[in-house]
Amino acid sequence: MKVAMADLPAQYAGLKNDLDRAVLDVLASGQYGLTTATAEFETAVARKCGVRHGIGLNSGTDALLLSLLALDLKPGDEVITTPFTFVATAEMIALLGLTPVFADIDSATFNLDTADVARKITARTRAILPVHLFGQMADMDELSRLAATQDLPLIGDAAQAIGCEHQNRAVGQWSRFTTLSFFPTKNLGAAGDGGMVLTDDDDLGEKLRYLRFHGSKGTYQYKYVGICSRLDAIQSAVLSVKLPHLDDWNEARRKNAAFYNEAFLDVTGIVTPCTLVGNVHTFHQYTLRVADGKRDALRQFLADHGVASGIYYPGALHLQDAYRKYGGQSGDCPEAERAAAEVLSIPVMPELTGAQRGYVAETVRAFFHR
Ligand SMILES: *Cc1c(COP(=O)(O)O)cnc(C)c1O
Repeated sequence: MKVAMADLPAQYAGLKNDLDRAVLDVLASGQYGLTTATAEFETAVARKCGVRHGIGLNSGTDALLLSLLALDLKPGDEVITTPFTFVATAEMIALLGLTPVFADIDSATFNLDTADVARKITARTRAILPVHLFGQMADMDELSRLAATQDLPLIGDAAQAIGCEHQNRAVGQWSRFTTLSFFPTKNLGAAGDGGMVLTDDDDLGEKLRYLRFHGSKGTYQYKYVGICSRLDAIQSAVLSVKLPHLDDWNEARRKNAAFYNEAFLDVTGIVTPCTLVGNVHTFHQYTLRVADGKRDALRQFLADHGVASGIYYPGALHLQDAYRKYGGQSGDCPEAERAAAEVLSIPVMPELTGAQRGYVAETVRAFFHR
């Protein structure tokens, strides 16, 4: 048997008629840029995530870039974030000439450790950028209390967390900006690239609409220096067909995760994912910790038996060539460094069949019980 991490053709097959019609309608309309299809999707996502404004963009990377740009920060200003994330989070901070300051993660959830964030705050700190990794939110209750005492804005990177909640509040309701990605393999994926910034602030929502279109409203008058970033009509139409299925897909991911948790109860040598009390987890990834240096051997064993897996992420960012110049040294973020050596994500996609997930679980068990 072969099991992949994602099966986009299977997802397409399930929605083929609706997707084909939606895409062909856009092609026939001749309206391909930012259109009513975009606006409808923005409204639907904003409502789902509990905020007033959704600004559709090219990518989740652009969503981070424009959120930071909207804060009007100056070169050298510090933004505290996690070193255990997809690179875009820190990359957009650095690209704007700002200084990424890495705080360590919590060993149980892989998300930012609020106590270490507090230790990293200086007179130059201008924002805190938590990532809601693998499908569960960072401890936003603690982080927002800390941010409020220091009068710092929060930007939540929710590229992996659409549909998440923390203490009964939707993912968009905890940060000044919340960024989403619609990369094809995310829980809600386009047929190409897409992203969005969510905000409840009317003025910032308006500013983001300028920033995504060269700082203009299309009048050849330029209020800000911006970029060109839009969620185009075809991607918006595809995403609007998929959005109503997101809750079911996330539920299917949770069921797969629960199945694995049960199947691995008696396996010593791995730690199954921990869901923070008060979190609704959407399992963008189902990530095991593999102790005793056996991670790579388990990955190879799975591959030999046809089971795909992924290492998210194999290196903490503060130790990467591009980010070492911010002063990162081995041992600075010990939990992030340990996680990079121990994590292994196994298939948890909603399209997984019962037979497939049973086979994945059996194969993992076989490795430890050889
Ligand atoms: C996917 C991802 C991004 C970037 O999104 P793109 O749409 O690929 O640009 C940013 N942050 C995190 C945590 C991600 O997982």
